[in-house]
Amino acid sequence: MEFDLNKKYCYYFKQISDIPRGSGNEKVVSDFVVELAKKHGYDYIQDELYNVIVSKPASPGYENSEPLIMQAHLDMVCEKNMDVEHDFEKDPLDLYADEEGWLHARGTTLGADDGQGVAYMLAILDDETLEHPELQCTFTVMEEIGLLGAKALKKEYFHSNRYINLDAGSEDCCTVSSSGGARAVLSKKLTFEADERPAYCLQIRGLKGGHSAGAIHEERGNAILLAARTAYEIGRTCGDMRLSDISGGMKFNAIPREADLVFTSAADPKLISECAEKCFEDIGRELQYSDEGFYGKLIPLTAERSIGTEETEKVLSFLNVIPNGLQHRSMAIEGLSIASLNAGVIYIEDDTLKIDDLIRSALASHGDEMIRKLEILCSHFGFEMSLSDRYYGWDYVKDSPLRQILREVLKEKGIEMKERATHGGLECGIFKGLIPDLDIVTYSPVSTGEHTPAEKLDLASFDRAYANLCELLRRCK
Ligand SMILES: [Zn+2]
Repeated sequence: MEFDLNKKYCYYFKQISDIPRGSGNEKVVSDFVVELAKKHGYDYIQDELYNVIVSKPASPGYENSEPLIMQAHLDMVCEKNMDVEHDFEKDPLDLYADEEGWLHARGTTLGADDGQGVAYMLAILDDETLEHPELQCTFTVMEEIGLLGAKALKKEYFHSNRYINLDAGSEDCCTVSSSGGARAVLSKKLTFEADERPAYCLQIRGLKGGHSAGAIHEERGNAILLAARTAYEIGRTCGDMRLSDISGGMKFNAIPREADLVFTSAADPKLISECAEKCFEDIGRELQYSDEGFYGKLIPLTAERSIGTEETEKVLSFLNVIPNGLQHRSMAIEGLSIASLNAGVIYIEDDTLKIDDLIRSALASHGDEMIRKLEILCSHFGFEMSLSDRYYGWDYVKDSPLRQILREVLKEKGIEMKERATHGGLECGIFKGLIPDLDIVTYSPVSTGEHTPAEKLDLASFDRAYANLCELLRRCK
């Protein structure tokens, strides 16, 4: 199967592949969309971030139909193999089709995520023969670095309550729910004093970690909280526990795999060591099926300072009681997490202890519930909380007229539509936050290897999904 540039969506896929479009570098591709809108005389909005919304009027006979939002993101993840020379700021992607009918970019990501959706909308905008209601074709920026373009969209731009997202889903599959999120930084100013007592480093190692959306329901250990639990237990059993340092985790959206906690204590070293061993043994048994690689170590070392026993007690208590991990799961969709927290990173900076926590929830009220719990605990233990990047999720809706139309379109092609839900964040959730009664479907062709140089797009599926999408539009009367 060749990559046939006579097909408009292939032509536009090639056009945008010639334009470098890493996240934050979307001006040129955004202007390219604007040029097409101008050429056809369509109304458009291009905002200061270079999000673009192009309005294509209803085709004859659809003037009274509810308008539709369509949406894809302009940016792509820029990854290449080490031995490949490619400048993602300047060079066009080097597209080629293999013998099995997959489209690739030589040595780099292909950007089918989400170039396929962008190409579909450009083809639809450029085709006067299609039948559909008024379309608000929305091209967002900086999706891959935190949905930043979508988060900046304004309600006033839209006058539709139906929406087709062209980023999630697949040829036979529609996404039906995603989570919202918020970042909470929990901090406490510490008072250090010189300390020459014997010191120890508690090390938590060998955990699996994983993405805080995809793996949060798998009972994997959180290295930071396990270090705090062990230290608390040592303090309770042996007495004289003074925190000197703590660090762990790499990213707020990843379950932390490793942590180090340094403390000083004048208590009997043998007792301390026995207590630590007992904790490691208990934790190892708890995690034997989820984190079989877990191990802990207690290493004597020297420290120069610590916080007092009282402050230590506060910090460790806080870390022992903060809610973490899976909080709620869906009773409508099997295996779907719908509310969770992840204490992802901990460190001390300028004598201030900071914990970077990511809260996810499909329902805003669950988000509020988790935030409230953290607030209560912060005020009780003398921590401060700063909340940022909050965006709303997309909770599962049982009856969706748009999903029903898509199901029928696919059924006539012999495809039984599957439904998929994610605990991750999607732009769908941002739109749902802007327009609460929005009816949402997602649709895409088959592609694999997103965010890696192995990314490839199934060209036969690219054809079929476009035909199905056009049929969906035609039925949105
Ligand atoms: Zn994407």
